[in-house]
Amino acid sequence: MIIDVHTHINNYHEDRVVSLDDCLNKLTDTMLENNVDYSLVLSSYKVNEHRPSTKQVVEAISDRDNLGVVAGISYLNYTHRDLKEISDFLEAGLIKGLKFYPGYEPFYPNDIRFKVVYDMAIEFDVPVMFHSGDTYAPTGKVKYSHPLHIDDLAVDYPDLKIVICHVGNPWIKDCMEVVYKNKNVHADISGLVLGDFSDKFERYMKTEIEEMITYAGDPKYLLYGTDWPISNMKSYLKFMDQLELPQEKKELILWKNAAELFKIDVTKL
Ligand SMILES: [Zn+2]
Repeated sequence: MIIDVHTHINNYHEDRVVSLDDCLNKLTDTMLENNVDYSLVLSSYKVNEHRPSTKQVVEAISDRDNLGVVAGISYLNYTHRDLKEISDFLEAGLIKGLKFYPGYEPFYPNDIRFKVVYDMAIEFDVPVMFHSGDTYAPTGKVKYSHPLHIDDLAVDYPDLKIVICHVGNPWIKDCMEVVYKNKNVHADISGLVLGDFSDKFERYMKTEIEEMITYAGDPKYLLYGTDWPISNMKSYLKFMDQLELPQEKKELILWKNAAELFKIDVTKL
């Protein structure tokens, strides 16, 4: 069983418009090729012809059992209608979590402006995911996406279930301390490369992830994710394969932790 907690259906090649259904088909075809049973699709913090809204994604995946939606939330642009829509989706069980993009947008995770949204996540018991570490675009501001800022949030909201995306890369040691210290914090390993791992980078990341597990203990907090289509699924599974971990710990990372955290019914897969 494999659950990918971090995929996108944004079109990153903006010279042409690709339909939402084509993007979804490409995702499910790639999952099939790589024996991935379930993926979470994270919507963006902005909506345009290359980035569908949460509502569009929710509607487009409604007949696909192997996909779930995590709703992207914008710090700069939200209205009471957006909050109402998110709350309705949560109440109807149509979204599995919320995603925030510090670094891409200028805010720290513990910003009071998001208290209302975090309270919603606690009420409906869904995790909140944070972009963390390096930004794909050089226009991002990485002081906001440093994983250390998650500690404030984790301490102030002990009932909030938090995911640090990309293990805070390159600040993986900081991420490992925040995960070790706070029971309510998880991390996903997505987006560590653009495309495929080179041999050298794979060896480097192998050491980093294994050190994290040595320090923070049994990987009950670690989640498999790719950031597809930015990172390649096949290359990611090869990366998982060469980690020196017993099979039962790999299974925690590959699907068990995710199924529990996001309440994914694996009996239906
Ligand atoms: Zn991502």
